[in-house]
Amino acid sequence: MSLPVVILKPGKEQSLKRFHPWVFSGAVKHVRGNIEEGDLVTVEDSHGNFLARGHYQIGSITVRVVSFSEETIDASFWHRKLEMALKLRQTLGLAGSDKTNAFRLVHGEGDGFPGLIIDMYDSTAVVQMHTVAMYRLREMLVQVLRDVLGDGLKAIYEKSEGTLPFKAGVEPVNGFIWGRNNGTIALENGLKFNVDWEKGQKTGFFVDQRDNRALLEKYSDGRSVLNMFCYTGGFSFYAMRGNARLVHSVDSSERAVELTRQNVQLNFPDDSRHEAFAMDAFKFMESSKEVYDLVILDPPAFAKHLKVLNNALQGYRRLNAKALEMIAPGGILFTFSCSQVVSKEAFRTMIFSAAARSGRKVRVLHQLSQPADHPVDIYHPEGEYLKGLVLFVE
Ligand code: SAH
Repeated sequence: MSLPVVILKPGKEQSLKRFHPWVFSGAVKHVRGNIEEGDLVTVEDSHGNFLARGHYQIGSITVRVVSFSEETIDASFWHRKLEMALKLRQTLGLAGSDKTNAFRLVHGEGDGFPGLIIDMYDSTAVVQMHTVAMYRLREMLVQVLRDVLGDGLKAIYEKSEGTLPFKAGVEPVNGFIWGRNNGTIALENGLKFNVDWEKGQKTGFFVDQRDNRALLEKYSDGRSVLNMFCYTGGFSFYAMRGNARLVHSVDSSERAVELTRQNVQLNFPDDSRHEAFAMDAFKFMESSKEVYDLVILDPPAFAKHLKVLNNALQGYRRLNAKALEMIAPGGILFTFSCSQVVSKEAFRTMIFSAAARSGRKVRVLHQLSQPADHPVDIYHPEGEYLKGLVLFVE
């Protein structure tokens, strides 16, 4: 196979030798052969030794590695990877479960598919590409998905309009690339929710909070709950099943609030314990006189880049300090950050200073992360993005 070759500067092969799957532009000496964004390339050290095969892209990450072996990267290679991904979800009790049929089947680098996300909602796969290489492979991916999932698959919806590099010269259009299915009611731990992959955020639902929602359910009995940044209301209907006394859901998006109302109605018809508000989080917290026994803060990623990290941390701090003021003595705070650039340590330090500012006595009960269907490649710690703390507030 004659592939273009990306040759590294002397000494720049170290991270690849430790199986880190990214080559940064600063490590590249030159490129041999014609190359275009999205091409499969071989990576060599400065002496011409093979290091890896990967997908070429323009930007600070130049190559995303798909294999550290000198093997052929073809449909059967991807078939094997997808089989492995499915097997893992079967091991986790997700694929084939009658209580949960919404889960992540492919989590980018964590499953050896750099730049690709696949979420399953019952028999519909929602596919999101973040690289041109994966976008170019989509026909092959459709075939591989059909082969591996068989009868379990009825439709594939592609949603890459907002996730492919802006200047890549490809023009993705969201829509079904195989089969068709007009929305679905999916299940998570036995609770029902509508999934709107077309208009919803991400692939339609935040599957990454499944385990954390289940934990919340256990703390909800008899409590008044504020679900801030509720989106489609996931935490709210778990709190209700956990016997919460009252649940207030808040999101600045009218559409999100509407989806929350629908989902609550689906699970707990005409239940007067729930109320939803379309309002900015800070405004809600400033104007509310309510004191809650349990608050959930699951804001969007305030920082998408390192450059804005400090501003983001200030935003998180202000939010958490305000939440701590609204919590009744003996109350609980579930607080999260899904910004990949906010490290676990930075998150904890930020919570520490929010707690100090509030003057409350605060103890850490749980340290939370993303669920096992969002696996982290041990050589690629960047794959761990979700972090959360459960705090007991005296
Ligand atoms: N907790 C949710 C996911 C939250 S995603 C779940 O379990 O599914 C973040 C949400 O924050 C989005 O729905 C977005 O509309 C909302 N949001 C963003 N900025 C906001 C703001 N300033 N005030 C309130 N909600 C906001």
